[in-house]
Amino acid sequence: MEPNCIFCKIVNKEIPSSKVYEDKHHLAFLDIAPVNKGHTLLIPKQHYEDLFDMPEDMLALTGSILKKLSAAVMKGVKADGVNVGVNNKSAAGQIVFHAHFHIIPRFNQDGLKAWPHKKYENVDEMGTYKDKIQMQLLKPS
Ligand code: 5GP
Ligand code: ZN
Repeated sequence: MEPNCIFCKIVNKEIPSSKVYEDKHHLAFLDIAPVNKGHTLLIPKQHYEDLFDMPEDMLALTGSILKKLSAAVMKGVKADGVNVGVNNKSAAGQIVFHAHFHIIPRFNQDGLKAWPHKKYENVDEMGTYKDKIQMQLLKPS
């Protein structure tokens, strides 16, 4: 429990939420400002700052709930698709620093655009980026 964390307050019922799902380790509730109606947030009850802060065994549990819940959101609001996403760190748009998974129902003609795409200069530049990422994976964690 982080005293100034809004999602910890929701877990502790100090702040109300439209609860969709709850188990021993998780809570899911409607996002107060939905991208589309039915936009749901899945959170671990324990305060982890972001995805990187979450232990692997916890993430495995969360992942299986995420799959079930995403299907329920999609079917429940009769959506045509669903975006599942995590914003990590403020540069990526994270505003609430308690790990959470966005489940956003999407409709064929909802008019929302995905991120704009950039281009690599050439194949060599693309290879450099591939190498940078692969190098990190080889490092002991
Ligand atoms: P972030 O940008 O950190 O990934 O997303 C935080 C999300 O939490 C936002 O989509 C925002 O609308 C939602 N949110 C912020 N405060 C509250 C709240 O008090 N209750 C609920 N239900 N959602 C909130
Ligand atoms: Zn918290």
